[in-house]
Amino acid sequence: MSPHPLNSPAAPILSYPAEDTYRPTGRATAIGLILCLAGGLLAAAIAAAGAFAWVVSKLPSWLVLPMVGQGVGVGLVLAWLFRRNKVRSSAAAVVIGIVCGIASATLFHFGLYVRNALVVRDQLRQDWRQLGMDQTPTGRQMLDQIGSHPLQLFDRTVIFPRTRHNGFLGYMMIRGTRVQVMALVQATIVAWLAVALGRQTTAKPFCEDCGAWFKPPVNAAVLPADCGGALAEAIEADDPQRVYAVHRAAGRELGTSCAVARVHACASCGKQYADVVIVASAGASRSQRVVRQLRRVSPETVTALKWEAPDPAPPP
Ligand SMILES: [Zn+2]
Repeated sequence: MSPHPLNSPAAPILSYPAEDTYRPTGRATAIGLILCLAGGLLAAAIAAAGAFAWVVSKLPSWLVLPMVGQGVGVGLVLAWLFRRNKVRSSAAAVVIGIVCGIASATLFHFGLYVRNALVVRDQLRQDWRQLGMDQTPTGRQMLDQIGSHPLQLFDRTVIFPRTRHNGFLGYMMIRGTRVQVMALVQATIVAWLAVALGRQTTAKPFCEDCGAWFKPPVNAAVLPADCGGALAEAIEADDPQRVYAVHRAAGRELGTSCAVARVHACASCGKQYADVVIVASAGASRSQRVVRQLRRVSPETVTALKWEAPDPAPPP
């Protein structure tokens, strides 16, 4: 195994250590992005239908719960699509998430618009029946005709006379400020969740040489939290001896928080990156804080992190 280029004496001084930190390249194929957008819009429609059914069925909604469900649904589908289509572009994830979030909120209100139109139609039919219009064949025919175009009927009898606008736009104007503000809040919540969940995926490590995502990380070293800084420095230096030294100096008690060095490896070429997170658990909740971003490490450093090879103890 040749020494790491930055550690070898021949390495040019100009090489900058930050190059060894993993950064997403922002790449994605056009066809991949189109598939993500199409799939995301489909998910947006299904999530809108779910939120609509929830609100209409009068289940307890606590105002924002259906919206949060809508956003989580769209976000999880987008995350899956980005991973499947190998999207490493955070900007693309943001744009697609916003488009799908706004589409989902709009479709939700479009559903309410259609439902309102049907209510108006049924009300009119009932009124006319009470006037005895269904007693004659002509009257029955008129009732059927009116019933077959509920959106036009809604336009002519309610929306246009009140707003001088037609269709969905006019309907949203009738609904008043409160519903308009709620629609904006809904679009914001759904878009924000879709972006947050989707973008995480695009930042995951990807091997550009092999065209594949890295394997899920493994916890190579779990040490007391106060070792986090030393562990991060040893990884930064990609120095197995320093990693062994951290292991030897570490206490055995982990307490409620610990420093974890995670190793992410490419399944094909074996390229490895390590990061350090402080994991704190209080009761059932766990929080995680990254103290060292993904850094390229040598196999020797990984072996030292796992403390698998016999520890080369210093000579007596
Ligand atoms: Zn690879």
